[in-house]
Amino acid sequence: MTIDCGDQIKRVLVVGGGTAGWLSACHLAKKLGASSSAGVQVTLVESENIPTIGVGEGTVPAIRESLRYLGISETEFVRECDVTFKQGIKFAHWVRPSGSPGPEFYHHVFDYPDCRVGDLTSRWLQMDSDRSYVDAVSVQGVICDRGLGPKDMTVPEYEGIVSYAYHLDAAKFARLLTRHGVERLGVRHVLADVQQVSRDDSGDIVSVSTVAGEKIEADLFVDCTGFAALLLGESMGVRFVDKRHILFADHALAAQLPYAEKDTPIPSFTISTAQESGWTWDIGLSERRGTGYVYSSAHTDHDRAETVFRQYLGDDAGKLNVRKIPMRVGHRETYWKNNCVAIGLSQGFVEPLEATGILVYDATARMLADTFPASRSVMPIVARQFNRAVQYAWDRVIDFIKLHYCISQRRDHPFWVDNCLESSIPETLQEKLQLWKFQPPSAYEFPSKLEIFNLANYQYVLYGMEFKTDINPMVSGRYPTMPDALGRIKEIANFSDQLLGRLPGHRALIDKIKMYG
Ligand code: FAD
Repeated sequence: MTIDCGDQIKRVLVVGGGTAGWLSACHLAKKLGASSSAGVQVTLVESENIPTIGVGEGTVPAIRESLRYLGISETEFVRECDVTFKQGIKFAHWVRPSGSPGPEFYHHVFDYPDCRVGDLTSRWLQMDSDRSYVDAVSVQGVICDRGLGPKDMTVPEYEGIVSYAYHLDAAKFARLLTRHGVERLGVRHVLADVQQVSRDDSGDIVSVSTVAGEKIEADLFVDCTGFAALLLGESMGVRFVDKRHILFADHALAAQLPYAEKDTPIPSFTISTAQESGWTWDIGLSERRGTGYVYSSAHTDHDRAETVFRQYLGDDAGKLNVRKIPMRVGHRETYWKNNCVAIGLSQGFVEPLEATGILVYDATARMLADTFPASRSVMPIVARQFNRAVQYAWDRVIDFIKLHYCISQRRDHPFWVDNCLESSIPETLQEKLQLWKFQPPSAYEFPSKLEIFNLANYQYVLYGMEFKTDINPMVSGRYPTMPDALGRIKEIANFSDQLLGRLPGHRALIDKIKMYG
C-alpha cells in the first residue's frame, strides 16, 4: 500500500455540543489545533433547538487527568459546575432485598486495595471477621462514612490524600467546556441545526448542511449527536447492536431536588439503591441533589416505576417534576467508518451504574486525538485499531455492569431472577466467575492496557457483594502470611484514624475551595 502524505486531514467537524461533543473538540484542539504544529482546524456545530440529554453527573478518577491535561483549573471547575467530590459508590440493597439483613457497602472506593505485603484478599477471605472488605484493604470507606472530603486545602489542584472523582452539573460542565474550547483552545463554534449529510461516491462524508442553508465541509467528522447518531447511524447506516438481553434497564426517571438547608451535609459518594426492577441513583451536588430511577420496562410499567421512585424520594418528592428518559442500551457495530467517528451516546451506552458514559467518551476522544491519522490514506488503518479498542472497551464495560446483577442474591422480583439466567451472562464473564470461585481475581485476568475496569474494581464488587471464593485448596505460599496480613490490616485501621483527624468535612471543603480557591 502506498501512503500518500499529501491528503492531510486539516479540518475536523464535531457535530453535537453535549459533554461528548465538547470533550472531543477540546481533546482534538489541544493536541492538534491551531496552536500546535499539526494546525488542524476544529469546528463544533450544535443545535440550539435540540437539547442535550442533561444527565451524567457521576464520573471516575480518570476525568481528573483529562481536565488537568486540557488546562482547566480545578477551582474554576468546582466553582462553575456545582462540583462535589466523589470517592466511590455506596450500594444499598444490592446483595439482598430491602427488609432482609444485608450489608450496605462501597464497591468501589477509588483507593486501590492496599497490597504492601501482597494481596490481602485471600487472607481476608479466611478471616472470621465482621470487618468489611473495603475497611480491611483501604482507608477510604471510613472517610466516606464520616462525611469527609478526600483532601484538605494544603493539597495541590487535582491531587488528593485519597483518590477521588467528581459529581457535576452536566449542563454547566458543557458550558465550561464550551468556553474553554472556544477561548483557550481555538475551537470554532457554530450554532445551527444540521439537516442534511452529503457523501461522495466512496461513502465519505463531504459536508453537512444546516437548516439556514450553510454548508460546512470537513475532512473528518465526529458524530456527537447523542442517541440520534445522525451521521454514523442515520447517514452511514451503521447498525446499532442492542444489548438489552444482557442489561435490561432501558428507561430512567430523573429529578432534581433542592437541599432542605444551606448547610445540609453532602455525601462524597454516589448512593445506588437496588429497587424491584432496577436501581436509583442519588448524587449530592453543591447546590442540589440529582436523583434517578433506572429500570427495565420489560419488568415493570412506567407508572409503577414512578411510584417506586417517589417512594424512594419520600417526603422530598412532593410535586416534584420527574423526567422520563428512554435509553438505547448497546453500541454501534463499528465506531469509525470511512471518515466518520462516533463519540458519546451515538457510539454506545449502558445504564450509568458505574459512570461509564463520560469515562468511555473521554477515553475515546483522547484516543482519537492521540492516534489522529496523518493522512486520509492511513485513515482505514487507524480506524481499524480504533474500532478494535472501542469494541474491547464496550465488551468489558458490559461484563462489569452485568457482574453487579448476576452475583446478587436478590430473587424477589422477575427482574432479579432474569438477571441470573445463564443465557443473559456473557461467556467472558461466566468464565471468570467460574475461576474466581476457586481463586481470587488476579492482574492476569486484565491484560490489556486499555482495560476500562481493572482488578481493583472487580475485587471491590465481588467481595462487597459477598461473592464466595473457596481459597482453601490453594497453596498458601502464594499469599502473604496471616500474621503479615493481620499486621497490615491493623496499620490501615490506624492510618484511617489519623486521616479522620486531618480531613475536613466534605461540604466545608467545597465551600472553602469556592471561597479561597
Ligand atoms: P447529548 O447530551 O444528547 O448531546 C447531543 C448534542 O447533539 C446536543 O448538543 C444536540 O443539540 C446536538 N444535536 C443533535 N442533533 C443535532 C442536529 N441535527 N444538528 C445539530 N446538533 C444536533 N454518564 C456518566 O458518565 N455518568 C453518569 O452518571 C451518567 N448518568 C446518566 C444517566 C442517564 C439516565 C443517561 C441517559 C445517561 C447518563 N450518562 C452518564 C451518560 C451521559 O448522559 C453522557 O455521558 C453525556 O451526557 C454525553 O452525551 P452526548 O454528548 O453524547 O449527547
